[in-house]
Amino acid sequence: MATERTLSIIKPDAVAKNVIGAIYSRFEQAGLKIIAARMEHLTRERAEGFYAVHRERPFFKDLVAFMTTGPVMIQVLEGDNAVARHRELMGATDPAKAAPGTIRADFASNIEENAVHGSDSVENAATEIAYFFEPGQICPRTR
Ligand code: UDP
Repeated sequence: MATERTLSIIKPDAVAKNVIGAIYSRFEQAGLKIIAARMEHLTRERAEGFYAVHRERPFFKDLVAFMTTGPVMIQVLEGDNAVARHRELMGATDPAKAAPGTIRADFASNIEENAVHGSDSVENAATEIAYFFEPGQICPRTR
């Protein structure tokens, strides 16, 4: 299996629910290692830049507004098949359709305020990681 990196964001709704640690536990139990992390309150410009691929979607403006309502917790996860494994842990975009036991089934409020973001491909993960972290801020395990 390939060792991959993926970008994870715990969104403002989940930070407000005080479940950062509960979500981190799920990453760790699944064998994903947190190799960079930072809390940030996104500005509108920063959220728009991150979600630029969705600029033409009808939910873009609301999504950007939601993502700036409070701080987010941003992390890089590393592990075997990290991109797909993380997406499995997250569950479907709409929590009503998310499998039981997934992060979104347990912590999301609705299709917009859905607790977490995760990169959807290795290529996008590299772009998203570079959006938030300098190479020197990423700390792979040495023991
Ligand atoms: N989203 C929304 N309304 C929708 C679809 C998506 O508000 O109808 C938001 C939601 O927060 C989602 C994000 O836009 O997580 C990005 O959408 P995408 O389809 O990429 O879903 P994801 O990859 O996050 O599951």
